[in-house]
Amino acid sequence: MSAPVPTRWFARKLEERSFLGQVLRKLRRFWLGTFRPAYVEQAVKERQGDCHRCGLCCELVYKCPFLGRDSQNLPYCRIYGDLRPANCRNYPFDAIDSEVDTCGYTFKK
Ligand code: SF4
Repeated sequence: MSAPVPTRWFARKLEERSFLGQVLRKLRRFWLGTFRPAYVEQAVKERQGDCHRCGLCCELVYKCPFLGRDSQNLPYCRIYGDLRPANCRNYPFDAIDSEVDTCGYTFKK
């Protein structure tokens, strides 16, 4: 299953490792998570690996105000559980969405 991409310009910018690319991926994350949850749910099933709690995805575009640090300086979510937004629960849901190079999740190309 592939996610719809509105325009060629948008598709090109989505792949860019720039601030604009980060913003567009965040918007895509929100849009697909809200209006195409079936796509996100299916895509998440196909990712491999595990989260190793680097916390870098919590600082994309802006540092999440709910990102905390424990006594060992490890990141944690202050609202982990039911309040955690779908964007965070599902990150990264596909190869385009995955923008932290050291993320523990990987995707087949
Ligand atoms: S970037 Fe990947 S490994 Fe790091 S906290 Fe986010 S999901 Fe976990």
